[in-house]
Parts: sequence; structure tokens; C-alpha cells
Amino acid sequence: MTIVSTIAIDGPAASGKSTVGELLARRLGYLYFDTGVMYRAVTWAALDRGTPIEDEAGVAALAGELHIDVAPPTSDDGRQYTVLADGVDITWEIRTPAVNASVSPISAYPGVRREMVRQQRRVAQGGRVVMVGRDIGTVVLPDADLKIYLDASVEERARRRWAEERARGESSDYGAVLASMRRRDEIDSSREASPLRAAEDAVVLDTTALDIDGVMAEVVRLIEECKCPGD
Ligand code: C5P
Repeated sequence: MTIVSTIAIDGPAASGKSTVGELLARRLGYLYFDTGVMYRAVTWAALDRGTPIEDEAGVAALAGELHIDVAPPTSDDGRQYTVLADGVDITWEIRTPAVNASVSPISAYPGVRREMVRQQRRVAQGGRVVMVGRDIGTVVLPDADLKIYLDASVEERARRRWAEERARGESSDYGAVLASMRRRDEIDSSREASPLRAAEDAVVLDTTALDIDGVMAEVVRLIEECKCPGD
């Protein structure tokens, strides 16, 4: 039986990846790593420094220079981890509508992706990791022991994101969240560099009608049955 040491979880925004990824990592005692944070950090830095989003070379250079750290939570404010960019805590700054609006165009730049993927492979090289993103099973860790692709209808995903924002006390509009999510889905799925899609050997789980316990039960079953690539 293959030992499930590297686990790749991919899927569109609010498909449940980060909740499932974190719970699973905690249960297994593995490192949880959310790669979306890195693309968000580069986007935040471009906005902060005034690098135009359309300046592909400028943004790619920034991706190469920026020192991104993902550390255990330093505050008890609902964060899963603390994100630092060149030492500055940007954990919540990377979740703003401005970052949401620009992260997908920036993530489509091959130069940005090359740099992020290089850093992500280094994080995963020791194994015992649950890595979450859009291209983990297809590009970053094509040899992962288990690949899961979570999906849900765009309306349900927008509802989840809207509820999360409301729970954080933000004044969130469902229609705006839905429109922003549709736009990100479209860019992420149609870009040339590493488009969002399930790896051929991924297990696809539709979470539209499942709560988190239901998804976790499925994922744990997959690990126990070890439906791993190569088996
Ligand atoms: O997962 P999250 O919503 O935080 O990701 C933000 C954006 O980062 C995605 O919409 C996508 O454009 C990009 N991303 C990516 N590849 C990854 C993770 C995220 O292109 N592995």
C-alpha cells in the first residue's frame, strides 16, 4: 500500500479546499500549505508598490524578489496562518476585493507561476504535506500520492464566500461576490499557463450538497482505501 505522504487538493474558489486541507493536515500531523496565499501576496505587493497589473515583466520581477512567509497564526482572530511579505503581516490585506479582482490576471503570468511553483516544490520536498491550490495535482506535484479535486456549483461557492465575509463583519453583497467568482473561474480555467482543471488521476468530489463533515468523511475514506495514483 502506498503511504499517503503528499496530498494535492485542487479546485475553484470556495469549493472547500482550505477547510478540508487544514482539517486533514491537522488530523494527519502534516504541514498544511495554501498556495493561493502566494499569488495573493504578489498581487498585494503589486498594488501596494504601484506596479501596474498589466506590467507582466514588472510583476514577474516582483514575484522573484518578494519574500513570502507562511507561519503559524500569530493572532487569535480567526486566521488559519499568518502571511508575511518582506516581514509585513498581510494576512487580511490579501483577502480584500482589490486583491480578489487582480489576483487571477496576475496568476496567469508564466513568469509569476514559474517562481511560485519553484518555491512550492521546495516546501513539499520533505513530504507529509497537504498542498492546496489550482494546479497542484497537474503541475506542482504531479507525483502526489493522493490527488483530490473539489468542486461545487458557482452559486453555492458564492454563497459560502458571502457567508464567510459576513461572519467576519464585512458588508458583503451576494451578487457582487457571485460576479467576482464567475470572473475568477473564467480566467483561472481559460488561461494558457496551468489552467484550473482536475488531474487525470484525481478523485473528483462535488461538494455542492455536502457539509464539511460529509466532505471530510469522503476524504478520510479515500486515504484509508488509499485510492492513490500508481496503485
Ligand atoms: O485559492 P485562492 O482563492 O486564495 O486563490 C486566489 C487565486 O490565486 C486564484 O483565483 C488563482 O487565480 C490563483 N491561484 C493559482 N494557482 C494556485 C493557487 C491560486 O493560479 N495554485
